[in-house]
Order: sequence, then C-alpha cells, then structure tokens
Amino acid sequence: MSSRSAPAPVSDRFGRPLGSLRLSVTDRCNLRCQYCMPEEEYVWLPRKDLLSFDETAFVVERFAALGVRKLRITGGEPLIRRHLPELVRLVSVVPGIEDVALTTNGILLAGQAAALKEAGLHRITVSLDTLRPDRFRSLTRRDGLDAVREGITAANAAGLRPLKLDTVVIRGFNDDELVDLFEFASDQGGEIRFIEYMDVGGATGWRPDLVFDADAIRALMARRYGGVEAVPVEDPTAPARRYRIPDGRVFGIIASVSEPFCRACDRSRVTADGRWFRCLYAPDGLDLRAPLRAGASAAEMEALIASTWSGRQDRGAEERAALDQRTPLVAAGDLRKDPHLEMHTRGG
Ligand code: SAM
Ligand code: SF4
Ligand code: SF4
Repeated sequence: MSSRSAPAPVSDRFGRPLGSLRLSVTDRCNLRCQYCMPEEEYVWLPRKDLLSFDETAFVVERFAALGVRKLRITGGEPLIRRHLPELVRLVSVVPGIEDVALTTNGILLAGQAAALKEAGLHRITVSLDTLRPDRFRSLTRRDGLDAVREGITAANAAGLRPLKLDTVVIRGFNDDELVDLFEFASDQGGEIRFIEYMDVGGATGWRPDLVFDADAIRALMARRYGGVEAVPVEDPTAPARRYRIPDGRVFGIIASVSEPFCRACDRSRVTADGRWFRCLYAPDGLDLRAPLRAGASAAEMEALIASTWSGRQDRGAEERAALDQRTPLVAAGDLRKDPHLEMHTRGG
C-alpha cells in the first residue's frame, strides 16, 4: 500500500470541482449520425496511441484521487472497443468512483448488456433519435433500429437501471416524434432527455434554425400533456434539467445551446489516446499519454492534473451563446487535420 498522503480535491478558477469524467474508449463508430459524423471520410487516432486498459485505469485512479466520483464511458461507440467489460471491471473498483455509466448507440448492446452489468457497470444511456426505421437509416446512414430496441430490452433485463434515453432534437427532422419517444422511454421504465442540437466539433451541418430549443420542447410537451413543471434541482452539476407532466412522469432537457450550464460544470473528458479536455468546446487538451508512457509516478500525474484543473476558466457553451452569429465550431478541413476536435473523439 502507498505511504503517500491523499491529495486534496481540486477546484478550478470559478470554484468548480473536478467531479465527473467522461472516458472515451474509442474514436470509431458503427453509425454515421448526421449531427456528429456527417463526412464521408475520417482520420482516425493511430491504434498504438490508444491507452491500454491498465493505463486507462491508472488515469482514472489519478482523477478519482483528485475528487472525481462519476465516470461515464463513451466514444465513438464504446461497445466497439474489444473486451470492454474488462475495463469496466478495472475502473468500477477504483477507490472514490461511486458511479460508472456508459453512453451507447445501442447497436451492440443486446450482446453485451449482461457482461457489462456483471463487470460492475451501474447505469446506461442509450442514444435514440427516432423510432422510424426510414428516419433511423437516413440519420445514421446504417440500419439498426431493431438492434437498438433489442439492446434496450437486454439492458433492462440485465438490471442496468435507471435506463436513460438521449434524443438529439433537430427541427424539421424529429421534432414531431418527441411524444412518441417520451412514451417509448416511459414504456421501457426509462427517462428521456431531449438534447439541443449543438454546434460542437464535427457538427459541420449545424445551423441555428435547426435547433429545436428548450422553450419549444417545454411548449410542445405542455400542449400535449396539459402542463410541465420544473422538478427542483437535486444535483446542480447534472446537465439535464428535469420537468414533470401532470401525471407525474418526468423528462429531461439538456439545453446546452439556449440555456448553457457552464457555471456548475464539473465535467471533463479524456480521449481514447489520453488527451484531456477541460471543456467540450476547448480548442486543445493536455496530453496525459506522454508523461504516462515516460514513467511519471502517480503523484506526478496527480500534480499535473491538479495544476491544470486549477487554472481552468472554460465556459465554452456560454461563450458560444454570447456570439452574434453562430456557425459550426470547426471547418471540415480543420477536423481532418486534428481528429481531437471531433465530438466522436472527445466523447459526448
Ligand atoms: N456513440 C455513443 C452514442 O451515440 O451514444 C456515444 C458517443 S456520442 C458522441 C455521445 C452523445 O453525443 C450522443 O448522445 C449523441 O447524440 C450526442 N451528440 C453527438 N453530436 C451531437 C450534437 N451535434 N449535438 C448534440 N448532441 C450530440
Ligand atoms: Fe452517432 Fe454516437 Fe457514432 Fe456520433 S459517436 S456517430 S452520436 S453513434
Ligand atoms: Fe462544461 Fe464546457 Fe460544456 Fe460549459 S461548454 S458545460 S464548461 S464542458
């Protein structure tokens, strides 16, 4: 057992703690969602650069020592990463980590839900934007709606609860399905969260008029169900605000565009090759892989992470919201020069 004393939890320049970590385990994906991966060709991270499971667990231990309590495994499509349950097994027993969740498109979930649960995964979020096979195909450029449905059934059967469904709402594309998606989530015993279409790296087709914003979502749900009331906020760091309809059922909205919540943001992201981004919109991140592979000690890595976080001033979504004219964050040419700018590399 180590004799060194535990480092203190660390806060950034605005007093925001290091609380939640999104861990991307691959930049690859088996779908091509138009709002995330609309291009024909992509530049991938070199495989030799991907952190091994042991390296990843070491990194998670360092973050946990500095205050991280919640871990979300993401990608790309995380279920593409081979032997993922082994990683879940490693990170779910890291001291300090209280919550291990995973965000997936659900395509491969049916075959993996039980193994993930058995390995220690607590919760799952499935991204689902439509219940119509033709729309699913045009949005993702792949078939797979049935597989996603089977995945959701398997996750429920495996006890990966509470199930969450995430829906990116795009005006004129799926804003006529919000009620159907809400009812579907409800039938599955899950909770849906409607996400505003964000102008993140990779979203090269983003336009302001495609955002179906939180006001519009609340109005639509209120019209259909006879009112919505805000649920008192339990966790101010949670990105979703929750709303209750008169029959008691609840839905969430992640309003990153129209009502950004950077003020309470305790989230950061580590890419599959060990680049640490302190904000989804940050132009660059800190390379953790180089010091790790050069043999930095646990204490040295923690000091590096702590000093970097304590200088954090990022509030990307608020800054974007203050712009007079909003266009996609990064041009396609720049994304090809540096795949770290992509949402599918950073993890959503
Ligand atoms: N492949 C997995 C999935 O789709 O669930 C995990 C990675 S994906 C990048 C994580 C989340 O980011 C998904 O819920 C996806 O819908 C969301 N996302 C991607 N691009 C987005 C955009 N432009 N605006 C809002 N959400 C987006
Ligand atoms: Fe779609 Fe997720 Fe793949 Fe992006 S990473 S294309 S959101 S499934
Ligand atoms: Fe946090 Fe950056 Fe998102 Fe704001 S834009 S909520 S600071 S990750």
